[in-house]
Amino acid sequence: MAYLVGAGPGRADLITLRGAELIKSADCLIVDKLANPALLEMARQDAEILHVPKRIGPGSYTQDQINRILVEKALAGKRVVRLKGGDPCIFGRCTEEAALLNEAGVDFEIVPGITAAIAAAEYTGIMLTDRRYSSQVAFITGREAEGKEDRNIDWGVLAHFPGTLVFYMGIGTLPTISEQLMAHGRSADTPVALVANATLPTQKVVRAPLSQIVETCGREQIGPPALIIVGPAAQGEAGLNWFMRKPLFGRTVVATRDAAGNAEMARKIVLRGGNPVEFTTMVLQPLTNRNEFLQILTELAGYDWVIFTSPNGVDIFFEAIGAFGKDARVFASVRLATLGTKTAERLAQYGIKADFVPTVFTGRDLGLQLLSYANLKDKKVLLLRSELASDELVEVLRQGEAQVRDVSLYTAVLQEGKATALEEQIQQGRIHWLTFASPSAVRGFFQQVRLSVVHASTVKVASIGPVTSRELIPLGGRIDLEAAEHTVDGLLDAIESAERG
Ligand code: SAH
Repeated sequence: MAYLVGAGPGRADLITLRGAELIKSADCLIVDKLANPALLEMARQDAEILHVPKRIGPGSYTQDQINRILVEKALAGKRVVRLKGGDPCIFGRCTEEAALLNEAGVDFEIVPGITAAIAAAEYTGIMLTDRRYSSQVAFITGREAEGKEDRNIDWGVLAHFPGTLVFYMGIGTLPTISEQLMAHGRSADTPVALVANATLPTQKVVRAPLSQIVETCGREQIGPPALIIVGPAAQGEAGLNWFMRKPLFGRTVVATRDAAGNAEMARKIVLRGGNPVEFTTMVLQPLTNRNEFLQILTELAGYDWVIFTSPNGVDIFFEAIGAFGKDARVFASVRLATLGTKTAERLAQYGIKADFVPTVFTGRDLGLQLLSYANLKDKKVLLLRSELASDELVEVLRQGEAQVRDVSLYTAVLQEGKATALEEQIQQGRIHWLTFASPSAVRGFFQQVRLSVVHASTVKVASIGPVTSRELIPLGGRIDLEAAEHTVDGLLDAIESAERG
């Protein structure tokens, strides 16, 4: 079975539910250059992923080669997803692929996607079918504007089309397009908009009258993929350019956590319109194979309180006990407290409702709150957390005369990111924010990226809270912001309000 699936126009979450479901279940994915690579994170670990870009040069594929691979994989009994940018059939050579599958006796399904024209317009406040000025829209391929294929385009009709023209693949032929439209009678002052990288954090819009659009685009260095929108609609509606006015739009923000943490933070940055860069500083290493942990497992029922201080800790704990066939029932007789609601939410995913979740962000505050909530004198309290966590929580609880046992579930060890590339980007002023969500991230970062590079640049530095800021002291006065709420969301909120000014 083969599925011709639209990946949507750019941003990963603009795919359809059906498309996402099929990516998750595919044996084999045959992927276009324009499909967002983040979509492939949904694929099964063992899925075969074939990239088939159709650009010119080495590593590129002809349509014939792609057709052959598609049919071959499907005939081999695989569940094949052919993932194409935007909608699979809008300038997507879908007819050929579907016809070949049909001839080969392979069952197929076509899953529509949001085509670039619609998304580019809606992400820039352009209304393609506003009834006041555009009761029709034409999608045109700009590629045919050059050379012999040109006969498919009737410039006379297009020049007098009473609505909006949207040219796909037209960047290379923009001079011909504007020239021909004017030569056939379209007014030189017709509004034109070019939208590049639509829906992505790198989205760019250039507007100019038809007679000046070539020159303007040259100056602004617009590259593919881009759409050319011609007609009154291209002017855009004042106040409707909702995407590009998001506070983080156009801002490049570096996440410096472990790979999974970075991926999560990157998603949040994209939702706020920003451009994430994931720089890995560390890898979390479970310590649950130590004797200490195994022994604690047999003694859990003897504790009065168990405290988790991070979602990572919760995941690592449950993964470890899962290996012994155990589950949430190990906590049947104990009470649980968490540092912050995020940790409590993670516990809830394993079926546990925490007994005490104060809205605090430091171990010290958690300890103080817990002491005022429950009398811990001579009570047995177990901390399950990172080896690198600060001692403050232990000290506070001991002052309350609790019997505290501090067990490490995991530690963070340095992992190298792509430091040279990042240093270059910082030096070129292409990075706007460096974010630090833990002291170990700061250490891991500056073991790789030179302090002097950051010092000499205009990059801004954001810290999640005081404990992390302390680690940033070698940076001198370079901390631009410390989040009031010490969570990743709090950190991004703070950056947003700094950008709003
Ligand atoms: N099937 C796709 C179009 C494939 S043709 C769809 O339905 O969108 C490729 C052309 O689509 C590019 O040359 C460009 O004109 C346009 N395009 C695709 N993604 C785009 C994006 N994110 N921003 C602007 N134009 C895009």
